[in-house]
Amino acid sequence: MSAEPYKVRASSWGSLFNCAYQWEGVHLLGMKSPSSPRALLGTAIHASTAAYDVARVEGSELSAYDAADHFIEALHHPEYDVDWRGSDITPQQAESTGLVLHTKYCNDISPLYEFVAVELETKPLEIDCGGGIVIKLTGTLDRARIKRDTEGIGIADVKTGGAAVSQGVAKTKGHKPQIGTYELLFEHTTGHRIESPAEIIGLKTKGKPEAGTGEIIGARELMVGTEDYPGLIQIGAEMFRTGLFPPNPQSFTCSERYCPRWKLCPYHE
Ligand code: SF4
Repeated sequence: MSAEPYKVRASSWGSLFNCAYQWEGVHLLGMKSPSSPRALLGTAIHASTAAYDVARVEGSELSAYDAADHFIEALHHPEYDVDWRGSDITPQQAESTGLVLHTKYCNDISPLYEFVAVELETKPLEIDCGGGIVIKLTGTLDRARIKRDTEGIGIADVKTGGAAVSQGVAKTKGHKPQIGTYELLFEHTTGHRIESPAEIIGLKTKGKPEAGTGEIIGARELMVGTEDYPGLIQIGAEMFRTGLFPPNPQSFTCSERYCPRWKLCPYHE
């Protein structure tokens, strides 16, 4: 009899290799902290830009102005707890920043792409890692679009954040594992091969709102490995097999504010 597969959401792969001890706390032990205002701002921008792109894909009429209602609704009526105390942004500032980015995205970024799907639902993909360890990759392609260009089909993933764009280019660092998982899930779900490099569409929420793109190549290989190096799935499988999830007290998320395991973790300084 085979063991129950370990379910891993595509969006959580990057954080497994940030601090695996934190990852275990959040994804296997269910530890959560209230969401931050900046995370809520990102969620609200994703809601409105996705509504706009869904309408484009379906060929229905939805103006950038009307799609902005989704932003306002998501920002002011979150479905989870948001802690505004001590935040570096007020609800009014979040609203004006988000509306600028939403409008910029709809007018300047989205028209550059031909999208064929938005936030596609995927079939779970089970990967037998040997030694009785099976990893099940799950999830919708959260916040991602499927684009078609001259090279073929590829992933375009919208990322918001205080430093999502620098000098006009989207930050791609840290996103490769998630994109690689998306590529695997897309191919598994549709039977179509990803041929075009992935793109991150960055929307910067801190300081002057800015938009930019950045390319990611070789994401799929990072996950499944090559002749020269093992993939992250294989390395992750070792953690599941041994039950040892290494802490990383040098992580940028190693603080009471960002780590839900902070109070119970003996490894931080
Ligand atoms: S407190 Fe630091 S070391 Fe401990 S789980 Fe959190 S991020 Fe990892």
